[in-house]
Amino acid sequence: MNRISHWIDGRIVAGTSGQQWPVYNPATGEQTGAADLASASEVDAAVETAAGGFRAWRGSSLAQRTSVLFAFRDLLDEHRNDIAAMVTAEHGKVLSDALGEVARGIENVEFACGVPHLLKGGFSEQPSRGVDVYSIRQPLGVVAGITPFNFPAMVPMWMFANAIACGNAFVLKPSEKDPSPSLLFAELWQKAGLPNGVFTVIQGARDAVNRLLEHPDIAAISFVGSTPVARHIYETGTRNGKRVQALGGAKNHMVVLPDADLDMAADAAVSAGYGSAGERCMAISAVVAVGGIGDRLVDAIAERIPRVKVGPGTDPASEMGPLVTREHRDKVASYLETAALGGSEVVVDGRQGAPDGGGFFLGPSLVDRVRPGTKVYDDEIFGPVLSVVRVDTYDEAVRLVNDNPYGNGVAIFTRDGGAARQFQFDVQVGMVGVNVPIPVPVAYYSFGGWKASLFGDTHMYGPDGIHFYTRTKVVTSRWPDPSTSTVDLGFPRNV
Ligand code: NAD
Repeated sequence: MNRISHWIDGRIVAGTSGQQWPVYNPATGEQTGAADLASASEVDAAVETAAGGFRAWRGSSLAQRTSVLFAFRDLLDEHRNDIAAMVTAEHGKVLSDALGEVARGIENVEFACGVPHLLKGGFSEQPSRGVDVYSIRQPLGVVAGITPFNFPAMVPMWMFANAIACGNAFVLKPSEKDPSPSLLFAELWQKAGLPNGVFTVIQGARDAVNRLLEHPDIAAISFVGSTPVARHIYETGTRNGKRVQALGGAKNHMVVLPDADLDMAADAAVSAGYGSAGERCMAISAVVAVGGIGDRLVDAIAERIPRVKVGPGTDPASEMGPLVTREHRDKVASYLETAALGGSEVVVDGRQGAPDGGGFFLGPSLVDRVRPGTKVYDDEIFGPVLSVVRVDTYDEAVRLVNDNPYGNGVAIFTRDGGAARQFQFDVQVGMVGVNVPIPVPVAYYSFGGWKASLFGDTHMYGPDGIHFYTRTKVVTSRWPDPSTSTVDLGFPRNV
């Protein structure tokens, strides 16, 4: 059994709280590890070393920071298979998907390698005679990242690449469900030359998070997870005077107009609805069929479902792995019960034909004629259950999306450029795809939803990440006129 402990001051430190969380291989259902759960006093000790790490890192030059970042990027590249294997072993997603997650994470480290450019301030010469004004960006101090189970490699990279590049010390509290990649990151940072204490890992759950939210030496919190916890993090963190960005849950719609390329839309619905077993915050959960396209679209999706091979993530033939825990699998399956469906029609029931054995498998499900007000529509299911909502018009589709409390991602499928442009104008969602079902922004933009999908005003990574992890200082300076110097410097008098 693998014991997953903390990383403090450049080494593994075993937990002392006596509390642990079981870590499973979701493909077999077997417990493979146990994560230590930090108590408040263990968090305090870790934050103290991080504060020391910050003092050292604060004095580093931009050249030193970038050389560490470039080395770290190369080590990540070298170890991408190891990281992906850890993700598959504890999360369950198929290896190709895990490799994709690692690749998207590395993009954030590559972005952060440009930090000397990103940290440049502004300069105004002579706003008043003999006066200059300029702005500089400085790090915040010790910042913490609290991450969800569904991207145990990518989401930490969203945060720590920019945080460390900006000169902060970073404390990661990964999900207790799949914590192992966090320790490999720690080793790689150390190998890359990052001083001890600048990157810290605290394994834990609610108690550890709550201590971070109150700790006076934590300057900022980045959070990604479910909406109820995001709200708690935002409210508690800001009440304690911290800068907080808290990304929450989602219910992403894919609007299919009657003129859409049907095959393209059906392929996209299948990959975006069932990829990673629907456990993506940008997964498509509701397909909105506009006008007369509903029957053909439902048929095209249903026809593709038997071709989605469900199996262990380590099998190269598998396209969809298990869900993360037995409890979560059972909860997702409960949305196929009559009470949750509220009159919707189950076209494909994923409870049938899922692989046997102890793994937490559930096949892809398709539910048609879903309506708001039913649990299957209203809840964030976070599993491989795709709903089809039928509406008559474009306006109805937009109203449906805008009335939803979440606003993470949305996609429109159409051949009409004008309709797509109007949609991007009308829709109240943070990330929009045009014939792209999962519009996750590249690392040089920023990622964030609207409404209940984000608490705070700063999106994650990219330019917003640099903004979040620094505070600006504006300097107004005046130097004595050199011509008035008591020493004759050779300047003309009274200029
Ligand atoms: P979660 O909210 O249960 O947990 C996220 C983190 O918060 C974990 O580190 C966990 O230990 C901690 N936590 C859980 N309960 C807590 C509590 N009561 N008090 C303090 N800390 C607590 O989320 P999850 O199940 O790990 O991840 C799935 C959720 O994350 C989904 O809702 C998904 O949409 C969301 N998500 C959102 C984004 C985004 O960018 N908006 C990205 C990925 C995942």
